[in-house]
Amino acid sequence: MSVLEKMSSAEAIALEDKYGAHNYHPLPVVLNRGEGVYVWDVEGKKYYDFLSAYSAVNQGHCHPKIVGAMVEQAQTLTLTSRAFYNDKLGVYEKYVTEYFGFDKVLPMNTGAEAVETALKICRKWAYEKKGINENEAQIIVCDGNFHGRTTTIISFSNDENARKNFGPYTAGFISIPYDDIDALEKAVNSSKNIAGFLVEPIQGEAGVYTPSEDFIKKAKAICEANNVLFIADEVQTGIARTGSLLAVCGNCSCENKCEKQATYTQPDILILGKALSGGAYPVSAVLANDAIMNVIKPGQHGSTFGGNPVAAAVAMAALDVVSDENLAQNARKLGNIFREEIGNYIKTSTIATLVRGKGLLNAIVINDTEESETAWNICMRLAEKGLLAKPTHGNIIRFAPPLVMTEAQLKDCIAIIIGTLKEFEK
Ligand SMILES: *Cc1c(COP(=O)(O)O)cnc(C)c1O
Repeated sequence: MSVLEKMSSAEAIALEDKYGAHNYHPLPVVLNRGEGVYVWDVEGKKYYDFLSAYSAVNQGHCHPKIVGAMVEQAQTLTLTSRAFYNDKLGVYEKYVTEYFGFDKVLPMNTGAEAVETALKICRKWAYEKKGINENEAQIIVCDGNFHGRTTTIISFSNDENARKNFGPYTAGFISIPYDDIDALEKAVNSSKNIAGFLVEPIQGEAGVYTPSEDFIKKAKAICEANNVLFIADEVQTGIARTGSLLAVCGNCSCENKCEKQATYTQPDILILGKALSGGAYPVSAVLANDAIMNVIKPGQHGSTFGGNPVAAAVAMAALDVVSDENLAQNARKLGNIFREEIGNYIKTSTIATLVRGKGLLNAIVINDTEESETAWNICMRLAEKGLLAKPTHGNIIRFAPPLVMTEAQLKDCIAIIIGTLKEFEK
């Protein structure tokens, strides 16, 4: 059949199965349209999207302002490479650094590339500024981390599935338990070669593990006292997802318009991706102040597509939407409702044991083993009822809708979720 003809879900799945590498295990739903909090499958069935492409689509599907900026720039100039200047990159660099409060940005495309960039900057800083002997720098990471899929990044993962048979691994990383300040203090003091601490303010992929209230603040203080760079991977948690502009903003919901309230922890290096483009285009970024970023000189790092004019235009529109539509405040308000209502249900539930998260990054823990099919089956049933969510780590289901959701829509979704969970009560 012609690729222009409409195909059934079964046909589309068969094509991916036959011609695509099997590196994902999707729910059997074939989508072909999205708008705001909704997506539609090829048969025309409408769903609430409760994954938002792993928090890339915070601004909602096909946001007209973002798509408009993308189309306009795509019709004008798409790529020059960094061999030449273009008239969009500098404008974006000024915009994004002021938006997040850093001196400089290094633009990349995907989250993993931005994490790699941060690691390289950290190592170079360690040798050239901190005075660590060449090739001896160590970076501390956390058990259960997810920072992407490159060879170096999976080298310090402790997810066997992500790691096994991809060795030999990159050296220079020390892993400590997440949310363990004593372990961090010990690791930082274990050697004079500690260059940085790379951490997710909430561990999304691991199952939305939310650390104790003061973990981030204390961690930064330990880093600062020991001249160790505090590197925040906010690829998933950033850009309003957790009810503030960044998860490191703590309980400040001003969208960075305040004078850095008491709850804000400034990372030495901030890593962004995913919602930086509202899901329209691969755009990632590493932000830092001059004392750190200036260790990178021409030719030492880069990317053909990084900072291209389309990415620049899209990212500015995507961040405008976050401020204009008060997405952080909305995520905070709706997140509180979600956890309260699901929490009330869980008190008497035998199938769900826990709801946790912050803003609209939440997870429900299902009362079964990690190896069980229960969470998958619940997600299949949720899809039948018009709501798309996906298990992470077997028995945990992540719930992360676009942040443009209304309270009425959220209430509708909570009813679907609780109704579905009730069908699985033992
Ligand atoms: C998704 C994610 C990444 C990797 O981003 P990609 O664009 O998939 O490479 C890195 N860190 C965190 C915390 C993420 O959630």
